[in-house]
Amino acid sequence: MTRVGDKQFEVFITAEELQKEIASLAAHINKEYAGKEVVFIAVLNGAFMFASDLMKNISLDCRISFVKMSSYKGLRSTGTVEELIGLGLDLKGKEVILVEDIVDTGLTIDKIIGLVSEQEPASVKVCTLLYKPTAFKGSKEPDYVGFSIPDAFVVGYGLDYMELGRNLNAIYQIKS
Ligand code: 5GP
Repeated sequence: MTRVGDKQFEVFITAEELQKEIASLAAHINKEYAGKEVVFIAVLNGAFMFASDLMKNISLDCRISFVKMSSYKGLRSTGTVEELIGLGLDLKGKEVILVEDIVDTGLTIDKIIGLVSEQEPASVKVCTLLYKPTAFKGSKEPDYVGFSIPDAFVVGYGLDYMELGRNLNAIYQIKS
């Protein structure tokens, strides 16, 4: 049990289970992309720990970049405009794998896929550590999933509760 901010959390996925699954995810990707060059794009802030451990197990020729979604009010339009900040790589014709900490409703990753696709990569796949299938409303399920989990709030290993708890080396679930 651990306290994050004003809430109590209990271990849901241990550090050992995480590392074992991440090694297996990477082995799967290494096999499927054998002989190819891959651009990994990790989505900040949540994916920083997962991306770091995943990449240590990737043996392909690869580049890695970190992006953040940013939304702002357009000057003339009434809606919000979404953009990806920090990419700095040309994705045209590249094999791209987006690295996410969690896919919940799937709306965030849908937007990122849309923005990345504008650059005409050869392919775009999604690798997520956690996936909440019952909450998912996106257009395409993630291609590589570490753990499918119930629709409950989790924290740790990059994921935050009020910006706290990202440093925990395991995944914790809120204690009911
Ligand atoms: P989406 O619903 O668009 O798939 O996910 C949006 C974002 O909500 C995720 O990238 C993540 O930052 C956050 N999120 C969704 N579920 C959880 C959760 O259980 N715990 C934490 N800490 N963040 C979550």
